[in-house]
Amino acid sequence: MLNVPPQAFPGPSSQQRAAAGGRGKVPLKPGRSLMDWIRLTKSGKDLTGLKGRLMEVTEDELAKHNKKEDCWICIRGFVYNVTPYMEYHPGGEDELMKAAGTDGTDLFDQVHRWVNYESMLKECLVGRMSAKPIAAPKEISTLSEEKKQLNGMVPEKKAQAASAKDLIPSYDWFQTDSLITIVIYTKQKGMNAELVIADCQDKRLRGEIIMDDHSYLVEVDLDHPVQEDMAVNIAEKVGKVEITLKKKDNIHWKMLGQPLESHNTFKKCTDRGLFYRKCKLVSKTEVTHDTKLFCLMLPKSTHLHVPKGRHVYLKQIIAGTEIVKPYTPVLPFLPLNFKEPSHHEGACIYLMIKIYSCGLFTQALDHLQIGDYISVSNPEGNFKKTQIQTSEDVFLLAAGTGFTPMVKLLDFALSEVSCLRTLKLIFFNKTEDDILWRNQLEELALKDKRFEVQFILSQPTKDWLGKQGKISSSLLSEFVKRSKKDSKVLICICGPTPFTEQGVQYLKDLGYSQEEIHAFTA
Ligand code: FAD
Ligand code: NAP
Repeated sequence: MLNVPPQAFPGPSSQQRAAAGGRGKVPLKPGRSLMDWIRLTKSGKDLTGLKGRLMEVTEDELAKHNKKEDCWICIRGFVYNVTPYMEYHPGGEDELMKAAGTDGTDLFDQVHRWVNYESMLKECLVGRMSAKPIAAPKEISTLSEEKKQLNGMVPEKKAQAASAKDLIPSYDWFQTDSLITIVIYTKQKGMNAELVIADCQDKRLRGEIIMDDHSYLVEVDLDHPVQEDMAVNIAEKVGKVEITLKKKDNIHWKMLGQPLESHNTFKKCTDRGLFYRKCKLVSKTEVTHDTKLFCLMLPKSTHLHVPKGRHVYLKQIIAGTEIVKPYTPVLPFLPLNFKEPSHHEGACIYLMIKIYSCGLFTQALDHLQIGDYISVSNPEGNFKKTQIQTSEDVFLLAAGTGFTPMVKLLDFALSEVSCLRTLKLIFFNKTEDDILWRNQLEELALKDKRFEVQFILSQPTKDWLGKQGKISSSLLSEFVKRSKKDSKVLICICGPTPFTEQGVQYLKDLGYSQEEIHAFTA
């Protein structure tokens, strides 16, 4: 078990406590942190009031428990008594009360889909919702009316409209003496490596193809064992994806394997659970006094490229409870003609993470040793590459670790956006010591005339000659200017939630449109 000190959290005089606000987090009372909640759940106290009894809950029964002092909520078919959790909820009591006495699944998914409530609230479990008659499916989601065994034939779903069926991917497979190849026909042009996520763990193959906000999944328990490495080939123009596995034994396979629950389905990405694979920590490098660059190596049997502007979730068990937090992969360095370190075989994910002295998750992360494993999810987020591809002026407003999504955007804009005229990073930090990759940023500005960086400090020492202050309308009007009257602009903003929310408001007040602003939020 982790030795987490039982202090009031966040500390009564903490800057974080004072700064907390906006939609994301409300200041919690002392003794009401996530760690305090975990302690309470381990205390043996009866948190449901049912003395460990589980019940089947009807909609009418659920609806009766709709008050703060008696509040039940249904999440994914399970009903929880959340009254004891109220004061511990980072989103605040009012946010929880929105779902009081009802099915809160959609509400929870909208706000924090990644949070594992099953684990966090397991001591509050009242029971299951009683079964309702099953309604007809809403969309063309499941194609898995499949025979029990996969023989390589793609099933036909007669009821589907021809036009819809034409858009849905299908798959096939074939073998040689030593290889198994699964071919996915996406029927879509412009497939690329970022749109294919494949994993093979202990004979379980999972291949996901992202198609806008939907995804197609092949998920099979393979008939025979395969070797650790996998190859993914993409024929971009025809939209064909091949996943090739090496057989462990050169025997003839009669079938691909057993279909798993979500096999051969086409669904909204948000309707799929998060998938994790274990990655090995291969290095941990200091960036500043409190921020480190973690390099996590993907398994050989994983194909995963996190798209720019997207984040992943890390999952750790802390004091017996599964805790999940989002982090945004960066590059190992800025585009300054460095070479990627060669000692790391395999693909790596780099994360720049600030370790908070009272942080639950980051303290545990900091205790990981080189060679330890941590679970990393599939990418999430709503930034689209097309937002930046046609921009002439790009402004990146970052505060603290809000710099992380900007790293890949900087690289992409400077190396691949041919119409780019100006790229400006306005980087807000407390002190000089907090500035991430300052030397690299200054070097990049010298190297590329289109790039400019402006550091703004809120708590500088008296030696600081640069700009001082916080995000404000006047500051933005000074730094965010089109290079010509009608130039195409993109402004990206990321940092603490109130910083981002205020920034967006100032930008709108300055006349920038919704389409010209991208805010990175949870
Ligand atoms: P916590 O235990 O959450 O505490 C962090 C600090 O906040 C502490 O100082 C604590 O005192 C204070 N605090 C906690 N709860 C409250 C509260 N209710 N009221 C007031 N203060 C409070 N971080 C990075 O370092 N790098 C990234 O690349 C990155 N990417 C992110 C991407 C996304 C989409 C999002 C939403 C966040 C990202 N973050 C990133 C932040 C990260 O997810 C965690 O929030 C962060 O690491 C802190 O986690 P923790 O559990 O250690 O800290
Ligand atoms: P920090 O060091 O506390 O703050 C960085 C700068 O922002 C400081 O100058 C600070 O000024 C200023 N600031 C803080 N709160 C402000 C507010 N309410 N209004 C105006 N300015 C404010 O930042 P950090 O600890 O690195 O935190 C970074 C944040 O970014 C975290 O909340 C993290 O969750 C978020 N983040 C989000 C994403 C995403 O994709 N959504 C990605 C990465 C990080 P003061 O001197 O006043 O504190």
